[in-house]
Order: sequence, then structure tokens, then C-alpha cells
Amino acid sequence: AAPMTASEGTPPPPQFDIDQPTIARVYDALLGGKDNFAADREGAKIYLKHVPDAGKCAIDNRAALVRGVQYLARVAGIDQFLDIGSGLPTVKNTHEAAQEINPDAKVVYVDNDPIVLAHGRALLASNESTTVITADLRDPEYILAHEEVKSTLDFNRPIGLMIVGLHMHFHDDEQPDEWVRTLLDACPAGSYLFITDFVDTGDDLQKSIERAGLESLGNGWIRTPERIREHFLGLPLIEPGLDFLERWYPEEPDREVPDADKLEPYQRILMAAIGKKE
Ligand code: SAM
Repeated sequence: AAPMTASEGTPPPPQFDIDQPTIARVYDALLGGKDNFAADREGAKIYLKHVPDAGKCAIDNRAALVRGVQYLARVAGIDQFLDIGSGLPTVKNTHEAAQEINPDAKVVYVDNDPIVLAHGRALLASNESTTVITADLRDPEYILAHEEVKSTLDFNRPIGLMIVGLHMHFHDDEQPDEWVRTLLDACPAGSYLFITDFVDTGDDLQKSIERAGLESLGNGWIRTPERIREHFLGLPLIEPGLDFLERWYPEEPDREVPDADKLEPYQRILMAAIGKKE
């Protein structure tokens, strides 16, 4: 399938150009990874200029990803994951979190940055249950028709669909719900949708992360919680619903968490939620 035209404001997928920062590599730089180039470290510096704790945001996001995958693998019994916008599979990612719980869990990583495939092939060469493909969230039909997706995942059994750390915030607001609908329609009842996103609840620092994204990558918008909830297309959310990462512990619904207004400003930049298709 021909890639869908990116709507205005959303840049085209990154090409392999080490002089241009890409989301995957800037995020890797913020996480303290080694798979990034000078331009990416400059991009990371712009984030750190606007949001000095941007590195902690990246680390907290990856930690929330791990908690979500642990919930899905352990509590929900999910053993196949379609992880879109996976980033570089370094620094504990989905396959490690899932396969620690279920060594047979299957994971397909999808990223539109070709560096993810290049590095992923090498890193995952000995892991038969994990695959990486280069594809774009904005072309969900291509993802679903991809041979490696079809041969790795069984769409007759529940899937953990992940759009973590990229969904809305790296795309403008025109079509994201349609991309999600196409993907969810392909997943049977019992499947889950897991999203984390930049959020806009009116804080200055939330605006700063938006400014940093636009300045360094040309991309990175914030959305209200109401708008993020719409991406779940009406699916019921598991406890504790859509919340700031620091308050989001799906395996521990009774955990004491800080009040939202007691969080550090950097802890109010991202929210997470998991919806269940019934
Ligand atoms: N999911 C990982 C996590 O939360 O730790 C990585 C998040 S990283 C901030 C966002 C990733 O999404 C990057 O690797 C970027 O290349 C990828 N990405 C951005 N837009 C995308 C798109 N339209 N389709 C597929 N991947 C995309």
C-alpha cells in the first residue's frame, strides 16, 4: 500500500540522515542510550533547555510502558503485542518486560524510523519471538497486511496494541482516531489498547515540552485529557483510568499515590491509560 499522505503539520517519516534529529534518537539520548548522533544530542539539549527534567520524563514514560506491559502480560494474559512507535529496543522495552513474564510472548515492533529496524535486527537476532518492521502509524492497512505482522501475531486471539509515547503528540489532530479504529477493528474482543501521551491540563511546563518538540523536531503537540480519552473510541479504561504516569499503577489499584497537584511539574507532562475491547 502507498503510505498515506501525512496531514498538514505532521512531518514525513524520517529518512536515514544523521544530520537531522529524529524522535527515536532524541528519545534515546534523553534516556541515556548510545544509539544517537550529534544532531540528536542537540535536539535533546533543546528539550532540556525548555524542560530541565525531560530526561526524567523519558525514563518515567519507559517505566510506565513496562508497568502497562506487565499488567497486560500478567493480569490480562496477553501474549502478543503490536507495539507501534516502539523506539529503539534498548533500555528495557516491551519484549523484555513481556518475555520476563511469558518467555513465549510475541512482540512486533513497528517504527517509521529506519534506524529502529537496523539496530533492532542486530539486537534481536537471537530472539525468535520478537520482530521489527519499518512502517507508519499513519498507514495502518500497511501494518496489518505486513507479512511479518501476519506470521508473528494471531489476530484470532487478543492482542495488546500499544501506541506509547507517540500517538497524538507527534501528529497533528486530523486523523489519529481513524488510524486507531483501523487497527482496533483488526483485533478481536479481549484485546487492549495502551496509550501514553503528552497532556495539556493548563500547566506552563506542558506548554514548554510542546515548544521544545516544535523547535527541535518540528513536531510534538499536547492534547487535553478529554481529547486523549477520545482516542480510545469509547473503550472502557482499566483502573485507574487515564492519569499522570506517577499515579498510574494498573497492577496496584489500591496503591497510595500522590494527589495530582502534589506532583512535580515534570511529572504532569504525560498521562497513560489502557482500554479493553469487549
Ligand atoms: N514507545 C517507546 C516508549 O514509549 O518508550 C518509544 C517512544 S519514542 C518517544 C516515539 C517513537 O515513535 C520514535 O521511535 C519514533 O520514531 C516513532 N514514531 C513517530 N511517529 C511515528 C509514526 N507515524 N509511525 C510509526 N512510528 C512513529
